Amino acid sequence: MAEKKLMNAPENIAQIPSTALPASPLAKQAASTFEQLGLSLGDRLGSDLTVYSPIDGSQLAALRMDTPDDIDAMVANARTAFAAWKLVPAPHRGELVRRYGALVREHKEALSLLLAIENGKILTEARGEVQEVIDICEYAVGLSRQLFGLTIASERPEHRLTEYWHPMGVLGLISAFNFPAAVWAWGTTVALVCGDSAIWKPSEKTPLTALAFAGLLAKAADDYELAPDHLVQVAIGDARCGTAVADHPDVAIVSATGSVRMGHDVAVRVAGRFGRSVLELGGNNAAIIAPSADLDLALRGAVFAATGTCGQRCTTLRRLIVHNSIRETFIARLIATFATLRIGSPLDDATHVGPLIDHMAFDGMQRALEQARREGGTVHGGERLDLAGAADGHYVRPAIVEMPQQSAIVCEETFAPILYVMGYDTLDEAIALQNGVSQGLSSSIFTNDVREAERFQSAQGSDCGIVNVNIGTSGAEIGGAFGGEKVTGGGRVSGSDSWKNYMRRATATVNYSASLPLAQGVKFDLDIDP
Ligand code: NAD
Repeated sequence: MAEKKLMNAPENIAQIPSTALPASPLAKQAASTFEQLGLSLGDRLGSDLTVYSPIDGSQLAALRMDTPDDIDAMVANARTAFAAWKLVPAPHRGELVRRYGALVREHKEALSLLLAIENGKILTEARGEVQEVIDICEYAVGLSRQLFGLTIASERPEHRLTEYWHPMGVLGLISAFNFPAAVWAWGTTVALVCGDSAIWKPSEKTPLTALAFAGLLAKAADDYELAPDHLVQVAIGDARCGTAVADHPDVAIVSATGSVRMGHDVAVRVAGRFGRSVLELGGNNAAIIAPSADLDLALRGAVFAATGTCGQRCTTLRRLIVHNSIRETFIARLIATFATLRIGSPLDDATHVGPLIDHMAFDGMQRALEQARREGGTVHGGERLDLAGAADGHYVRPAIVEMPQQSAIVCEETFAPILYVMGYDTLDEAIALQNGVSQGLSSSIFTNDVREAERFQSAQGSDCGIVNVNIGTSGAEIGGAFGGEKVTGGGRVSGSDSWKNYMRRATATVNYSASLPLAQGVKFDLDIDP
């Protein structure tokens, strides 16, 4: 299995050329994590793609990118793997995922460190993301015994009408930088128990995390006699690599997580060849703070949701809609609490907010704050902070922006910690503001009024895929279907019944009578010689 050999060859570690893996302290830590995992970057090393740590901007590695020809070869291999894997009974497919989950659990700390070094999220959130991978493995193992169809009442006598679910084919999974492991695990572990093979195109900003997580899966597959070669492969590269995956006619399902711009491109390409796409795109999430709310709870919920992962979660709280009777005091408390946030290295356990991913994210944040000022906003915070020894890291103070109305910039997703605050008088007005953007991912209301809470969740309420009461917009659990509506793409990668995205449905009618009644009472009498 070429892919397995590539990533599962500890003896190659000593051969990493020093020019390809610069010797910054973080690069050394990343290399030693691979060593602890018993993995090697092997012939992934190259010069096409330089990987940086957002912690101090230092280089972690330089990698070779896969070409469209490489993707073609991967898809051919994935099809061969699928032909074998779909014949393995689902509970035995679950056994591979169980073993993989055990490996991730064993190496949780090393994986969390690598993730924090490459992505910049604080260690407790990195550990949470690795825990999410472990949890989803357990979820998928359980699912491997529950891929059930329906028995439907037939209108014809002595007929049985049923639905079956069969493996679908090759999954192409394109993922974003901000959840460099969890999103992959949501889709891939579930697809594996559903009988699919998979190709993962991770973000070009977090390829090392991808190679580590996929490398452990290759190890588990190497040791499992029922797993065919090339069951899961990794395609390293930028948008061009994603396009090659999206365009390939033999990739049955394309699960794409990222910006709306990317999702639109992928959706059109995949639809053009009648493939299936599952889209998890940008959000612009709001919380309503009602006058009856427990305001301490609301404050905690809002601050974590707005500043966690340095505002780089798809579910980050970006808009706060506060009842005008409590608006001024709530904003004052928000500003005071933001001032207490500890901003610094994500590897320091005391830190609340780590760096932005790169200078482009920083520039995007500054542009958004400028536009907000032009649109009448009053900005608190948002400035860059110099951290000793991290001149090329982009650390910012999360911003609160008081807005007179929901102007153009508020309707955009800026992937940075900016919290726009607006006022409202009636719940109708608040819900209209909440729904008045093109995205539809996550939403919440803080209230102790049961009527308001119920209305917010009803068809008259939030139009988002995630609707919370008395918790923030971020931090969803894995059991529920995760995703959103409108330009967020409508996809559900994992949770609830989203496993159906990774399978194809067959409806079967069996006639066990001696006659041939037609549905809807259609008559078609034939004179047939006995
Ligand atoms: P991005 O769109 O820049 O990149 C995401 C992935 O798509 C990367 O792997 C990239 O290489 C690839 N890509 C980019 N353009 C492509 C194209 N035209 N065709 C095929 N592949 C392409 O996003 P990002 O900056 O990595 O992540 C941030 C965005 O992701 C935010 O908008 C965030 O809300 C969204 N996101 C959504 C969810 C969700 O579940 N809804 C989860 C995480 C992130």
